Formats: sequence, structure tokens, C-alpha cells
Amino acid sequence: MAVLVLGGAGYIGSHAVDQLISRGYDVVVVDNLGTGHRQSVHRDAKFYEGDIRDQGFLTHIFTNESIEGVFHFCAYSLVGESVQKPLAYFNNNVQGLQVLLEVMYEHQVEYIIFSSTAAVYGEPDSVPITEEDSKTPTSPYGESKLMMEKMMHWSHEAYGVKYAALRYFNVAGAKEDGTIGEDHRPETHLIPIVLQTALGQRDQITVFGDDYDTEDGSCIRDYLHVEDLIEAHILAYEYLQNDGEPGAFNLGSSQGYSVFEILEAARNVTQKEIKAIVGERRAGDPSKLVASSDKARQLLGWQPKHDNINDIIGSAWQWHYQHPNGYQEDMEG
Ligand code: UDP
Repeated sequence: MAVLVLGGAGYIGSHAVDQLISRGYDVVVVDNLGTGHRQSVHRDAKFYEGDIRDQGFLTHIFTNESIEGVFHFCAYSLVGESVQKPLAYFNNNVQGLQVLLEVMYEHQVEYIIFSSTAAVYGEPDSVPITEEDSKTPTSPYGESKLMMEKMMHWSHEAYGVKYAALRYFNVAGAKEDGTIGEDHRPETHLIPIVLQTALGQRDQITVFGDDYDTEDGSCIRDYLHVEDLIEAHILAYEYLQNDGEPGAFNLGSSQGYSVFEILEAARNVTQKEIKAIVGERRAGDPSKLVASSDKARQLLGWQPKHDNINDIIGSAWQWHYQHPNGYQEDMEG
């Protein structure tokens, strides 16, 4: 039996494939390579190129492969972009999941581990945020993920789908040996942009707003190492297989850093100046997102290993420093 990793050529998906294979799982990967990189997929994984909204394509895979469970990473995931293009987000994210759940049901595949997001909460009432807190997304991205969680909830009620919706806070870092890492085009995430500035690929970074209701005025986020994030996925999969109750789990380090604090930490790690200017707020950004991850720690036995922001930025720096052109370089080299 194999696990099917959807979006396995993306930043987070490729780390999941890598860890699953190193733990002895048989892995089948699907990716439409819209944003993913074929080179990032572990060579021992079986790869199919295609889109999960294509029901015929997905049916073909579930018919040909012996799939026991699904890890679902393929979705659009940019808060700012989603405000500009809401319908593209509902189409890719919500419709993609609807097709997937239908095909899973037809093939009696019960387990799904799903990337959700802190963006389902919107502007939180208080931090740290627990799973029960109110959910009023401030972006179509967050709204699409909340809809997807509800689709899984009702599919659980009706068809017995066993799901874990893992609400990621901010994911960063790279595999320890620097062989896989983050390479988005265009890049929009804070830590890679800061590190590209340290490499001299950008002149400066723009801090999106310094007038938020936080100590230094910039947004606060909870940064988590990608390897710890994937560990939680595998624990969640085992938890469901051991009859654990389906539901949502926050994944974060439970510690918040402002944009200015991330800049300062990156200057320390890289020993580079990293010029920053202050710009406008970015649409859809809540001021402060920090997780309570007690539920994941208690029920899944999850214990993040990288609880220091310098470690997280350091592993991302190693990747960027060794691969200044991301996967492009590997193709040309
Ligand atoms: N951010 C910023 N400048 C940038 C990119 C991001 O100030 O060039 C801020 C952004 O407003 C947010 C935080 O950094 O408060 C993290 O943003 P990112 O896009 O990395 O992740 P998100 O929180 O959207 O998932």
C-alpha cells in the first residue's frame, strides 16, 4: 500500500515526500508543476504530472495504485493574491478537494491529512489561538481553507472520511542537508525574501506596515520549521489509523516574532546588513497570529525539535546560500 502525496513537488510537499520515504512508506506523488519543481521530488517516489481537478486523471491513479491514504498539499496559498483573485482560489482549492473526496469515496480510501492554515481564524480575539476560537477569515485564501475543512467534516459524517486538518502558522526552513528548500516564483514569503536580500539578489525588503497594534507596529507571526511540520503530518496519519478522532490541529511554535524581529534575527544569522524600508499594509493580513499547539502536542505526541528562530532561519539560509537560484541552478548545472 502507498500514500498519495498531492502537491509533492512543492516546498512543503517535497519535504513530506522525503520524510515519508525515509520512514519506509511507498509514496506516489501528483503535482501539476504549476508552482512545484520536478527536481525536488525524491527519486524513489512514483511521479504523476496532472491536476487533481481532472477527475479522470485522479481516477486513473486511484485505479492503478494501491492507495491507503492521502496527504493533500496542492492548493493556492497566498493571502495577498487571493484578495485579487478570489475565484481562482475557490476553484483550485475548493473544487480540487471536492473532486478528490469523490474519487477517494469511490475507491474507499478513508484517510486524508490536509494542509489548512492559521488564516482560517482571521483577526484573532486573543493569542495564543486555540482550535475552538472564532473563525472569520480576512482573505479568500483563509475562507477557501475553512470551506475545505467543512467539506471534510461533512464527508466524515456522511462517508466516514477520517481527516486531520493541520492549521499551519508560518512555515520556514529547509531540510538539514540543504538538498531541498523553498523556491517560489515569484517569491512572496518573508524569510526567503529577507534571505534573497542578504544574498544581494534584492536591494531591500519592504516591511508591510508598521502601524499595527503590536509592540513595534509590524505584524507578528509564529514561525515553524518545515521538518517539524512534516513530522506532525506523519504523527496525524498514524493517529487516524489508530482510531484517533478526526479534526483540526494548530501547528506552530507558540512563539511570535514581528517582521522587524525576523529581520534582526536574519542579520545575526547571515552577518549581512539587509536593508529594509516600511511600506503599506498588505491586504488581508491580520496583525498577530500565534498558535496554541497544545492539542497537537497532547493528542499526536508532537514535539517540535527546532524551537529557536535562529535555527529555522539558519537552515533556510543554508539552502539559499547553496542554491542562490533555487532549483533553476540544478537544472542548468
Ligand atoms: N511581509 C513583509 N514583507 C514582505 C513579505 C511579508 O512585511 O516582503 C510580512 C507579511 O505582511 C506578514 C509576514 O511578513 O505579516 C509573513 O508573511 P508571509 O507572506 O511570509 O506569510 P503569511 O503570514 O502571509 O502566511
